[in-house]
Amino acid sequence: MVANQQTLCGRCARLGKTCCQGREIYITPGDMRRIGAVAGKIQFVEWTRTADPSYMDQDDDPVWRQHVLGRDGSRRILKRQANGDCIFLGSRGCHLSMAVRPLLCRLHPFTYTADHIDSEPDTGCPRHLLSAGESVFEAIHTSMELARQWHRQLYEEVITDGNDNRTDIRPSL
Ligand code: SF4
Ligand code: SF4
Repeated sequence: MVANQQTLCGRCARLGKTCCQGREIYITPGDMRRIGAVAGKIQFVEWTRTADPSYMDQDDDPVWRQHVLGRDGSRRILKRQANGDCIFLGSRGCHLSMAVRPLLCRLHPFTYTADHIDSEPDTGCPRHLLSAGESVFEAIHTSMELARQWHRQLYEEVITDGNDNRTDIRPSL
């Protein structure tokens, strides 16, 4: 069988909605600095409470609860376009290079807490588009090794987050 040359994300995008549409993407202080350095005058940060009550639990990840969620339950996320798409989503995918992309985006569809990374991906990726014998991680060109590196960086940056500091609502660009 000839391997499918297109990434699973490309196959997914042809179908319609992807994980860059309608999601709230938390960004670390480090993400904010890296994106701010390339974003020109784009205002890309907003603070919002999640509409999903289960997100507020975070019982299995107290580091996340302590540093990411403010006292009112809000957290720093990427702004979205009027239709719910991420502000950096264009017709050919993400405008940000992998080195600048939020760590949450780089890690998706891995699921994790501060202590571990699950070996199975998030269930949101369209597995029915996989070629025979192909795994989700192979099909999106990622690996557990990369995930470990980004996961380490994510939590190193998360613990620097002062979660009630709202002075970065309008980053100086
Ligand atoms: S990570 Fe999964 S859900 Fe997101 S675009 Fe790729 S295949 Fe689709
Ligand atoms: S920053 Fe890029 S990868 Fe992340 S949600 Fe936005 S468009 Fe998608």
